[in-house]
Amino acid sequence: MNTSIYCPYCHKYVELSNRGGFNSIHGEYWMGQCNSCQKVILVNNHSSEKYPMPLPEPIDSRILEPIRKDFEEANICFSASAFRAASVMARRAIQNICLDKGADEKDKLEKQIEWLFSQGIITKDLKDWAHEVRLVGNDAAHPRKPGTDTDINKSDAEDILELLKQFCQVLYVAPSIADERKKIRENK
Ligand SMILES: [Zn+2]
Repeated sequence: MNTSIYCPYCHKYVELSNRGGFNSIHGEYWMGQCNSCQKVILVNNHSSEKYPMPLPEPIDSRILEPIRKDFEEANICFSASAFRAASVMARRAIQNICLDKGADEKDKLEKQIEWLFSQGIITKDLKDWAHEVRLVGNDAAHPRKPGTDTDINKSDAEDILELLKQFCQVLYVAPSIADERKKIRENK
């Protein structure tokens, strides 16, 4: 069996070649050898869990540095099942984006997002996404009385990271691609 995964060693999408399987009380496993770096990854047949756990894919380098770092840290938290921390880092990334786009540092994030919208820097959709990330991030950052605390589960964190990704696509990646295209066209 061959399978395509993000290799935890060489950080590329690769095919694994099956180097044999075995059973344990924890289930069936097989050893997959990376076709690129030749290192061996252990794969659980049923859960598809892999050891070592693949780290998240690198963030698009076209995203500005401080934002990329927050985003990267959010993804690392996510891959370690630290969903609350992932949401807090995603909220931080949104705030860094607001500052990069000119929002007032003294304002609260809620106001900064509204400012971006009022300046036509983000659309209503983007504004709503940013508020969603902000609200979940707030829940994650601020503890409440025991029993009333909000739990952040895997799918919450997944949604938040996806919203952050889309936000970064629209504000950084797409404009940068358009810019590159323009340069190529002008140089022809
Ligand atoms: Zn590899």
